[in-house]
Amino acid sequence: MAEPIIRAQQVEKFYAQPSENRIQVISPTDLSIVPGEIVALLGPSGSGKSTLLRMLAGLSQPSAGEVLWHGKPISTVRINVSIVFQSFALFPWLTVLENVEAPLKARGMAAAERRERSIKILDTVGLDGFQAAYPKELSGGMRQRVGFARALVVEPEVLFMDEPFSALDVLTAENLRSELLELWQKKTIPTQSIFIVTHNIEEAVLLADRIIVLGRNPGHVRTDFKVTNLAHPRDRKSQPFTQLVDYIYKVLTRPDVTPDMPNLEPGRKVRDQRQMHYEMLPHARPGGIAGLLELIIDLGGRTDIYRLADELAFEIDDLLPIVEAASLLGFLKVGEGDVAITPEGHEYAESEILKQKEVFRKAALEHVLLLRQITRALNNKTDHTVPEDFFLDMLDEQFSEEETQRQLDTAINWGRYAELFDFDASRRRFILPEVDETAESVEGVEVE
Ligand code: ADP
Ligand code: MG
Repeated sequence: MAEPIIRAQQVEKFYAQPSENRIQVISPTDLSIVPGEIVALLGPSGSGKSTLLRMLAGLSQPSAGEVLWHGKPISTVRINVSIVFQSFALFPWLTVLENVEAPLKARGMAAAERRERSIKILDTVGLDGFQAAYPKELSGGMRQRVGFARALVVEPEVLFMDEPFSALDVLTAENLRSELLELWQKKTIPTQSIFIVTHNIEEAVLLADRIIVLGRNPGHVRTDFKVTNLAHPRDRKSQPFTQLVDYIYKVLTRPDVTPDMPNLEPGRKVRDQRQMHYEMLPHARPGGIAGLLELIIDLGGRTDIYRLADELAFEIDDLLPIVEAASLLGFLKVGEGDVAITPEGHEYAESEILKQKEVFRKAALEHVLLLRQITRALNNKTDHTVPEDFFLDMLDEQFSEEETQRQLDTAINWGRYAELFDFDASRRRFILPEVDETAESVEGVEVE
């Protein structure tokens, strides 16, 4: 393998907090960027993609570990990278040409030379004729072209992009993506390597030579592999393409395991060393879970999850938590990019409301440790009430402060729905619902 341009060694990021706990956003991670490849970094929102990009690009210091640029600590050398962001971040008071010239001016290049270089790159990205326009006069797609021109004009060795196409409409995005790929492949631009953050799986498979998938809490590499069996331009309908998309969906929908994909050449051996005690509760509502299950039953009980997202015009980030929740509760089985409903899932979706709650209660107690613990604690205490802090303290060993509260909020939502317990928000205490007949039925549930 070629010598890396950028090499991150055991980089970590954490943020200080008012309490003594700190929020760990990235757990120790190794990652290299080598010449000649487009790397796509995928992951659910909040998994630390932008944080990792900023550390690799030298914009932010790791809290531990180090980033090397051609073997030297990145903060000690002059590096040549640029970044394209999702929001175009143009100077509104400068013309298109002046926006593109700005980074060259900052580097002290003489006026005539920087003008010539800027005009040339504007030409390359299809913006000739727009030099004197102001950003506000341009469409989103044109503004992002200016963003690209400004990034490329410095002839970066590594071009970083953070969700560069996600604010654009589908056609504009497709268009810009293929133009960028053409510039890269024909070596019209001297860029050695492209690193793109995205949450769009197809975009990653369309562009990348190597794909890295991040998991969250804290951010860690789930899988890192090379895309070797797809020639450009890639055909979205070809079998290897859909197979790879399916595989990545599978990785993203099953945070607990990283499934194997035969024929994939690993970019790097990945070992997940984190010990998780609590499974992460996906933030989905019981009603949303039932809705999803009904849709899948309508489709014959089994469907391609990627087609489902497409048909519902859902962003993957919105659909995933619901699929994850249904799978955690044993209502869905996820495999090979397909989701299939289980008998329990059938029963849940198709029962009337009281029966539905009962099915949910049983599934929740069987599969969700936190709900089991809350229910048990309430049943064991003579006054049948426990403060929220008791569970917050247990959860914050594992989750950030913000996520701890979100985990408990979801548990409260699920537990209330299942009538396992109630929550008194003014006293911040869990309580058993009115202790007469309901207590009986709650205590009737086997809780180990
Ligand atoms: P992604 O790009 O994958 O959506 P980010 O890298 O933006 O994720 O964020 C990862 C996590 O780091 C999030 O949970 C976010 O809340 C947290 N985070 C980001 N910046 C800060 C900060 N300054 N202080 C505390 N937490 C932060
Ligand atoms: Mg981000």
